[in-house]
Amino acid sequence: MEITVLHFSWAYEDESFAGGPHTINGEECECGAKHKPTKALVEGIAAAADCPDPPVEILVAPNKLLPWIKGAVQSQEDGEAAYAKAQADGSWQVGNVISSLERQQARIEQHEESIKQDSLEGRLSDDDYARAQFALKQTQQVAAMMDDGLSFDEAAAKWHDDLRAEQEARARAGE
Ligand SMILES: [Zn+2]
Repeated sequence: MEITVLHFSWAYEDESFAGGPHTINGEECECGAKHKPTKALVEGIAAAADCPDPPVEILVAPNKLLPWIKGAVQSQEDGEAAYAKAQADGSWQVGNVISSLERQQARIEQHEESIKQDSLEGRLSDDDYARAQFALKQTQQVAAMMDDGLSFDEAAAKWHDDLRAEQEARARAGE
């Protein structure tokens, strides 16, 4: 399961996630931790992602986790069928990428506008602003790869590989 944390950090029970992307599959995440996709965590993420101003977005979820996600956010049979169909044909993932792009852009615009207007409405902390820019860049890159014909899974995997390569190059350069 791939998620993006939209706040500076987000915690579920005793597990804490820094802002930015995380891979929850029991293997090493780009943040260095190993997040186990337990039922409680998956349900916690699904519920958090379903809030009006969600701290977390689910970018991709494997089919085997869908019953937990659906259980946490939906109970109507129609909704479940629509959700399962959207997941099966990939439109759910594409839709999530687009809505994530729009949400990040809106947060950044609102923040920049608040500075122009000298108002505190929509003002982000420096860290949240940096996170929003990072999440926007990530989503734009994934969206561009999907435009080039990659599936969401392929694009997300490539994005993580690129990020890791960039981090390793930076570590080698001694930054
Ligand atoms: Zn992580």
